[in-house]
Amino acid sequence: MLGSVSTGAAEYDRQTCTPCRGTGKVISGKGGSPHQVSCPWCGGDGRFHPGRDAQTGEQIRSAPAD
Ligand SMILES: [Zn+2]
Repeated sequence: MLGSVSTGAAEYDRQTCTPCRGTGKVISGKGGSPHQVSCPWCGGDGRFHPGRDAQTGEQIRSAPAD
């Protein structure tokens, strides 16, 4: 049953980086042969970073909600 309290043990881990599935590594085909590189989405730590720009590896700047 649904409840307000959750252990989180059996829930989908939103903290896990999806593209690399938490491994921190992805296969890149750049340069010719596929090779393993650090995941640009999480920076290699395997965690999901909201607002992170995979193209630059930097946080996306957002206007302050004032
Ligand atoms: Zn990742």
